[in-house]
Amino acid sequence: MSEQYTEPIVIIGSGHAGVAVAAGLRTRGWAGRIVLLDAQDDAPYERPPLSKDLLAPGSSDRTALLRKEDYYAAKGIERMAGQTVVSIDPAGRAVVLADGSRIPYHRLVIATGSRARALPVPGADLDGVLALRTYQDGLAIRRALVPGARVVVIGAGFIGMEVAAAAVKNGCFVTVLEFQDRVMKRVTSQPVSAFFEQLHRSQGVLLEFGAAVTELQGNGRVERVLTSDGRTFEADVVVAGIGVLPNQELAESAGLTCRDGVLVDEQCRTSVPGIYAAGDVTRFTGAFSGASQRLESIQNANAQAEAVVNSILAGQATPPEVPWFWTVQHGVRLQTAGVMHPDDEVIVRGDPAAGKFSVVYLREGRLAAVDTVGGLADFRPAKKLIPAGLLLDPALVEDPAVKLEDAVTGAGTRPATSMTAAAPV
Ligand code: NAP
Repeated sequence: MSEQYTEPIVIIGSGHAGVAVAAGLRTRGWAGRIVLLDAQDDAPYERPPLSKDLLAPGSSDRTALLRKEDYYAAKGIERMAGQTVVSIDPAGRAVVLADGSRIPYHRLVIATGSRARALPVPGADLDGVLALRTYQDGLAIRRALVPGARVVVIGAGFIGMEVAAAAVKNGCFVTVLEFQDRVMKRVTSQPVSAFFEQLHRSQGVLLEFGAAVTELQGNGRVERVLTSDGRTFEADVVVAGIGVLPNQELAESAGLTCRDGVLVDEQCRTSVPGIYAAGDVTRFTGAFSGASQRLESIQNANAQAEAVVNSILAGQATPPEVPWFWTVQHGVRLQTAGVMHPDDEVIVRGDPAAGKFSVVYLREGRLAAVDTVGGLADFRPAKKLIPAGLLLDPALVEDPAVKLEDAVTGAGTRPATSMTAAAPV
């Protein structure tokens, strides 16, 4: 099929999703040209280590690459680093680079990812105020985490908590300021938050909830953080981890439908024929939850990349995969299958005090998600049970001696809406 096209498949963005599309096309036999564009100069790298291994005391300042540096040339993937795409011309089927040159495409894949949300307060531009998104950001934070430094982390999401854990390990004094009333509230339930909160406190991290930062002050460099309740926190370094925004502007100005993310269907097709999107930048309907969502995870980037490849090469949909995530803080791993919702029934299995437990999320009696802490026993069965939509007995789920799969009581059918694949947009 590929020989008949002289124009390349162009991929914008060489993060997890973009690289996985390029590699997948080659693995699946696409012999035509592939152009992989990225504004960053660094060879494509893995993101999870940026807030973990890269910040660990005594670790290397090199980070893991997604592929060996010579991989792209060896596979005939035309990687163009340091190239910013300024616009997409869907009618002319071309992208325009900052220098005005045009690259025509046969198919276009938008894998532009997301960016750190900027702190919306005065003083956010002072030196010493950092965010973590890129390898270069990670290096800057690594340099700042010197023993004795007073580090104020703003936001207690994955970034904030992983950076806080690394900072105390480096001998810093760490305070976390969070809007919400508990850590990682967006992604987990109260029992898991309480466990990690206690873990962080036991390692010397100070946690302040309901803390609205109003201003950062300093003379050129940050010296203190002010909150709305009149408190002041002295700081040598501030790390903001207050969420991300999808890099959808290129898509939006090219007329693609966007709604806090580029809208895609289950084949990762956007609203414009010939243009696909994958990874953090997308919004789509969860196959199992029926919810409109953005999923900022490696698993989603890889799954959507596979969907793009299938769609381009075979015009076929890829079977949906259960989303999963993980974080490691102070050496304790939290691994999640599925996406919980605040209205889910929450059942704790095992003893949090023992450092090994699961939290099961039931939605209308069916398994929606599982958090596992300190062990993965419930993770694998959860990945099978979530798509099956089976009914579980809460009393059996609560008993950690009963295997999760043995808590199934019936083959209730999933509500019709939740099985509906994303509508073409
Ligand atoms: P996040 O998970 O959205 O958490 C940010 C937290 O900061 C939220 O609780 C948010 O509260 C709070 N917040 C927002 N504005 C604030 C303010 N002005 N002052 C104090 N708190 C504030 O985002 P993140 O931790 O920055 O992570 C960024 C992305 O990277 C996420 O997609 C995350 O999943 C991903 N990531 C993943 C991993 C992993 O999978 N292990 C590791 C690192 C990063 P509201 O909800 O009220 O806004």
